[in-house]
Formats: sequence, C-alpha cells, structure tokens
Amino acid sequence: MSSGTESYIIVGAGIFGVSTAYHLITKYPNASITLVDRDAFDAESRVAASWDWNKVVRADYDDIVYCELALEAQDVFKSDPLWKPYFHETGLLWTCRDDYGKEVIENYKRLGRKADVKAVSIEEAKKLYGGLLDNADYTGVKEVLVNPTGGWGAAGDSLRAITRKAMELGVKYEVAEVATLLLSKTGKCSGIRTKMGKDLKATHTIIAAGAFTPTLLEYSAVGSGLPNIAAGFRLVAGGITTGMAKLDDQSHAIYGSMPVAFQGYNLELGKSTSKSYLISFLEI
Ligand SMILES: Cc1cc2nc3c(=O)[nH]c(=O)nc-3n(C[C@H](O)[C@H](O)[C@H](O)COP(=O)(O)OP(=O)(O)OC[C@H]3O[C@@H](n4cnc5c(N)ncnc54)[C@H](O)[C@@H]3O)c2cc1C
Repeated sequence: MSSGTESYIIVGAGIFGVSTAYHLITKYPNASITLVDRDAFDAESRVAASWDWNKVVRADYDDIVYCELALEAQDVFKSDPLWKPYFHETGLLWTCRDDYGKEVIENYKRLGRKADVKAVSIEEAKKLYGGLLDNADYTGVKEVLVNPTGGWGAAGDSLRAITRKAMELGVKYEVAEVATLLLSKTGKCSGIRTKMGKDLKATHTIIAAGAFTPTLLEYSAVGSGLPNIAAGFRLVAGGITTGMAKLDDQSHAIYGSMPVAFQGYNLELGKSTSKSYLISFLEI
C-alpha cells in the first residue's frame, strides 16, 4: 500500500494512463505523479487510440467479468459530473447470428441488470428507431439484442477533461518520447529514459503505452539484457479500421438519432465472433 508520499511515473497519457493518474492522485493527494507522453494532452492531433471523435460505450459482453466492469464504467459515465457531459445514451442494437445475445442477457440477469437489455425478433427490430435499420443485412440473424442503455462517448473531449482535472489535482505532465525503462540487473525498475537521454526516476513505474507497449518492453529487454522483460506473445497490438461520413441537414434529420448498430458475424471458428458497427453521428 502506498504511504501517499511515493512517486509514480506513468508512461502514456491515453485513457488508461490518465485514469490511473486521476485515481492515484485522488487516493494519495501527496504522492508525486507524472504522466509522460510523446504528445501534449491538448495537441491538435495525437497518436493514441483514446484520442478520437467517439467510442462505443457499452456493457454487452458475453464474458461476465468484462460485462460487470463495463456496467460499472457505464454507470460512472451516466452519473459522474466529470464524465456525464460526454456520454450519449443513444441505445444499441446488435444482430446476433449465434447465441451471443442469450449469453449477454444471462450475464445481465446474474448481475441484477436484466431490465436494461432484451432480445427481439427481426420483424420487431425493423420497426425500431423509425424503421432506420429496416433494410440492414439480416441474413442468418437469429435475434436482435436491444440495449437502450448503451451509446457512445466523445472520446477526445473526455480524455482532455479528465487530464485537465488530474493536472488541477497535482498530476504533472511531461511531453517526451520514452526510449526505455531503467532496470537494475535483477529487473527492478527505477524509472524511464527519454529519447533525449533524460532520466526520470520514481518508486513506481506504470506502463500504459497502448499498442506501443510491446515495443517499449522489447527495447527495455534488449537494453537491460533481461529477455523476460519482453512481452513476447503475452501482448499483441491490434488494429481497427474506421470510416467517417459528414451528413448534410437532410441526412442528419434521418440519421441524427440513430443508435449504435452492430453486425455480429459468426465465423464458425470456435466461439470467435467478428463484428462491424456504426456509431451514431456527432453534431459538429
Ligand atoms: C479505431 C479504434 C476504435 C475503437 N473503438 C472503441 C470503442 O468504440 N469503444 C471502446 O470501448 N474501445 C474502443 N477501442 C479501444 C480503445 O480505444 C482502447 O482500448 C483504449 O483507447 C486504449 O487506451 P490506452 O490508454 O491503453 O492506449 P492509447 O490511447 O493508445 O494511449 C497510449 C499513449 O501512450 C503514448 N505512448 C506510447 N508509447 C510512448 C512512448 N514510447 N513514449 C511516450 N509516450 C508513448 C501514446 O502517445 C498514447 O498517448 C478502439 C480502438 C481503436 C484503435
């Protein structure tokens, strides 16, 4: 347990790094906490998965642990004045070609949240949201999961807001590219070295470098001669493609109130299910 006067370096100021900093400073106001990121938190453009127009905020997971954590996060989005302005509860629809919907509903039931979610027939789904998804691809669909409590969050805006709040509470923010962890011969970490050769030391170093984490660990393993530091197959960076459409007034009148919509595809590869989705449109 922290004495409250310990020091923390957090590599990466995406949502994981910033949330960690915020919760640490809230719990330990006297601790020294420094976020280190290659980009300024209010930069015009950033290389961070968390820095985006929008992200789906949902708890429809077939894994109950994930479902419970996501419900907790969704409740914070709905009630905490820090997050609330950025959450849009548009509802969420998910075409299910396997038993995904049933498993989600079972999880909600076990967590005492059954009222939040239901499955409807294709015919019923076509009538929802003024018939907006009337001509979607329902080939092979068994049922449609409907969750009025899901939606989307304005990702970049909420990230900037929580970073500002953490800084107001005393978190420091250093713009620098981290080259490697500082490791002793036994693997004890005492901080980081930046690409410019500056060492930052702390009693605790937390890596929240997103997709760059395996690379940072690889450099640190090579630099320290400690091969076990490398992520190996423990962490694999992934990617998602996105598209954006700008709506004119006429299209906005039709699509402006649409829910987040998922197409679930059963790939017949064990239990693997791929998905594509549309996020409701922002008003710019
Ligand atoms: C296109 C896309 C769509 C997604 N959609 C959703 C969604 O709808 N809903 C949802 O819940 N999740 C979604 N995700 C996943 C979610 O965005 C990520 O899980 C989350 O943002 C990861 O946050 P993070 O803090 O771990 O990483 P990041 O946000 O990537 O932050 C990592 C930070 O570390 C910094 N960094 C890395 N290496 C270094 C270094 N060497 N030195 C200094 N700084 C460094 C980077 O600059 C960056 O700011 C999506 C992801 C992507 C890519």
